[in-house]
Amino acid sequence: MDKKIILVCDSHANKTDQAKKLINFGQNLYSYLKNEIILVVFNEKNIENFSRKINFGNILNIKTKTHEFGDIISGLETVIEKTDFSYLCFDSSIKSLEQASYLAGKFNASIITNVLKIEDKNQFSRMIFNSKLEAGIKNLKEKCVLTIAGSSFDENDSIFSKNSIEEIEIPHENSDIKIIETMSRSESSSLDNAKIILSVGRGLNSSEEIEKVFEVSKLIPGSSVGCSRPIVDKGLLEYQRQVGITGRSVSPKIYSAFGISGSTQHLFGMKDCEFIISVNNDPHASIFGHSDVCIVEDAVLFLEALKNELEN
Ligand SMILES: Cc1cc2nc3c(=O)[nH]c(=O)nc-3n(C[C@H](O)[C@H](O)[C@H](O)COP(=O)(O)OP(=O)(O)OC[C@H]3O[C@@H](n4cnc5c(N)ncnc54)[C@H](O)[C@@H]3O)c2cc1C
Repeated sequence: MDKKIILVCDSHANKTDQAKKLINFGQNLYSYLKNEIILVVFNEKNIENFSRKINFGNILNIKTKTHEFGDIISGLETVIEKTDFSYLCFDSSIKSLEQASYLAGKFNASIITNVLKIEDKNQFSRMIFNSKLEAGIKNLKEKCVLTIAGSSFDENDSIFSKNSIEEIEIPHENSDIKIIETMSRSESSSLDNAKIILSVGRGLNSSEEIEKVFEVSKLIPGSSVGCSRPIVDKGLLEYQRQVGITGRSVSPKIYSAFGISGSTQHLFGMKDCEFIISVNNDPHASIFGHSDVCIVEDAVLFLEALKNELEN
């Protein structure tokens, strides 16, 4: 069986942009490997029209009952069982990262996340040490899962003309991930129902600086203040405000991260946020790869300016 490059377009809202970015990445990889490229999309109603929009014809449209993790994974497992892949490529959203890591484990593939550049057919570069260094990382396995860094590999015109549009339907029952039991968290938090969360990280390092976030929050109805773990560890805020894998998972309409770097542990708690705004004085902070709006600025200065704006 010929190996393929499989591109996974799992976006709901920005399907076209995500597909174009993935296709552009796939084309770069194709120039090294010459493996056929397949774009996998989910629940596209008008696939012919979508194919014209993205100028790419080799598409597999998977129909799932829901857009939840279990159903998306079921669909991808079905494809991978029939299609041998050299590279399985995802975008870098938090949801994509979850799927990528699950499938790498399941299919014994290596995984390289946040790929910035393709250096060779088996070598990629990504930022390490909190975006301070760029490292070359080699894939040593037959199969490899990649997630592509936020801003790299922008859209480009497709060089492929091949047309093969297929559709498959995945029954909901196919999913082998089931919720067996649900438990409520013992202590509630103001973050649970907040429409807007203003979250602080180690970029703000004293109670005086953190107080500025509370001053802004008072001026925004429906908002609450969250934080990263180091802020709780330092005793600056209480545990109920910690967002992340060992804190809370939150789902506000807007999540603003002030001085938060974007560790995977923190990102886990933000994965259901609808719109993410980040303020960080480091233009290479990883959180920018997961944000809808990226502001390179001193968080304290930004909060002071925001407070003045809101008061006026
Ligand atoms: C098992 C385990 C579980 C964990 N669980 C969690 C969890 O649930 N939640 C969690 O958050 N972490 C968790 N962590 C910790 C996690 O790995 C990170 O250490 C943590 O998220 C980093 O927090 P931070 O982004 O606030 O700090 P840092 O990583 O230190 O980032 C600070 C950021 O602030 C920026 N900055 C500095 N000064 C300014 C300024 N003046 N203006 C603007 N930006 C500025 C810097 O550029 C940097 O990007 C866990 C770790 C482990 C090992």
